[in-house]
Amino acid sequence: MPPTAIVWFRRDLRLADHPALHAAAADGAVVVPVYIDSPAEEAPWPPGAASRWWLHHALTDLAQALQGSGTRLLLRRGPSLQALQQLVAETGATALHWNRLYDPATLARDQAVKSWAKATGLQVRSHNAALLHEPWTLTTGKGGAYRVFTPFWKACLAAPAAPPPLPAPVRLPPPPPHLASLPLAALGLLPRNRWDAGLAQAWTPGEAGAVAALNAFFDTAAADYGVARDLPGAAGTSRLSPHLHFGELSPRQVLQACRNAGESAGSASFTRQLYWREFAHHLLYHFPHTTDTPLDPRFKAFPWAGDPAAGLTAWQRGRTGFPLVDAGMRELWHTGWMHNRVRMLAASFLIKNLLIPWQQGAHWFWDTLVDADLANNTLGWQWTAGCGADAAPYFRIFNPVLQGQRFDPDGAYVRRWLPELARLPDRWLHRPWEAPRTVLETAGVRLGRDYPAPILDLGASRRRALTLWDALKRR
Ligand code: FAD
Repeated sequence: MPPTAIVWFRRDLRLADHPALHAAAADGAVVVPVYIDSPAEEAPWPPGAASRWWLHHALTDLAQALQGSGTRLLLRRGPSLQALQQLVAETGATALHWNRLYDPATLARDQAVKSWAKATGLQVRSHNAALLHEPWTLTTGKGGAYRVFTPFWKACLAAPAAPPPLPAPVRLPPPPPHLASLPLAALGLLPRNRWDAGLAQAWTPGEAGAVAALNAFFDTAAADYGVARDLPGAAGTSRLSPHLHFGELSPRQVLQACRNAGESAGSASFTRQLYWREFAHHLLYHFPHTTDTPLDPRFKAFPWAGDPAAGLTAWQRGRTGFPLVDAGMRELWHTGWMHNRVRMLAASFLIKNLLIPWQQGAHWFWDTLVDADLANNTLGWQWTAGCGADAAPYFRIFNPVLQGQRFDPDGAYVRRWLPELARLPDRWLHRPWEAPRTVLETAGVRLGRDYPAPILDLGASRRRALTLWDALKRR
């Protein structure tokens, strides 16, 4: 009788380059693939509404792919430890495999599972599937963690290369038929009030969708990535972030696709962004408190003076009166994603112009992004707030008008997400409050009615922020 091995799927919802699945199959075991729904174990950052929508569809795709390989996915409900104990009792499994995650809550949970498995004599093996370089494999000359991107990146390039991706298993023997599985609907991942039509239009979750997005990017956009990545109106980036977050694709597969595409400025610039993802995971692992607390302790005492009631709501709804910020926030609400340049701008506006704590923005992104990722989100917010590792200098306060004129000069992006401004000429599109009355009338825009008047004065709010940041830096 072949041994039985449980493969515990988490954020690695794919069959190709799946070291846990590969190892279990290579041992000649009967593989029992299981996904355990246990959002509470990720507290205080359980998956948000958009992530749960994505998860529903990614699990549908994974179940179909496993069925195509001759087996089936079991769905169980957490707590994970109890669900695994139950499954071992039901199957007589002698081995348990999973791919590693690096956020504080799941690390602690996995450690508890590992301790139990070892104590019961179960063979337990965890694998690296999510990163090119795991956080503990790279240290500075002094033996500490990196806090600055460029030396981190150089260390990655000097380190032994990640192994090539593994093939998907061709055929897997099915687990015993008596093993029960919850129906996917029982996990309640889809929203009750169906606000998700825009997400469904924008994305194809799952491994097949991930591979299609990867191929499409290298067929059409990769060569120009270095320039087009900054233009929110162009399809200039890969949009692989949710696929990478849910592990429908591994960074090794992405890197290999990059290499296959041949060297170009575009692919070099794209690869660098993949290392920002690595850097974010390195930071989260070594500084787990930074999800909620500034890495730079001086910022703990920052005198946030904004009015969250008014400012936060206007920002969330895309009604600040600053078109590029509002277009980004509406893209986020509609599709669950926002272009990186606009993420930086929207975050800077919340933190520096509105003086609302970055943690509140991070939570909103967490709930609304389909790619919400604790490592990348924490890095993005702390970087913009100027309080994290390799932070943006505090005097960098993005100006929504100048950013719009520079990166959305023909207004393609703003017009797509703010149709009420579509008929404004380019010259006034990013500052409608300065447009002459006749121009507004001709474009059919009544400020304050069709589109909000600006909720703050850009110059005054910038000066206020600079004074506060200056005082803090001098402490
Ligand atoms: P591409 O430009 O095609 O890049 C390829 C991949 O590299 C991305 O899919 C992503 O995995 C990685 N990457 C690119 N830029 C970054 C970056 N700055 N930091 C870390 N990894 C990067 N990214 C998330 O995946 N999840 C988040 O929750 C998230 N929150 C953010 C919050 C703020 C305030 C900011 C400023 C950035 C945030 N980012 C986040 C980073 C970045 O905006 C997204 O990764 C990127 O926009 C995803 O689009 P793409 O896949 O087309 O990226």
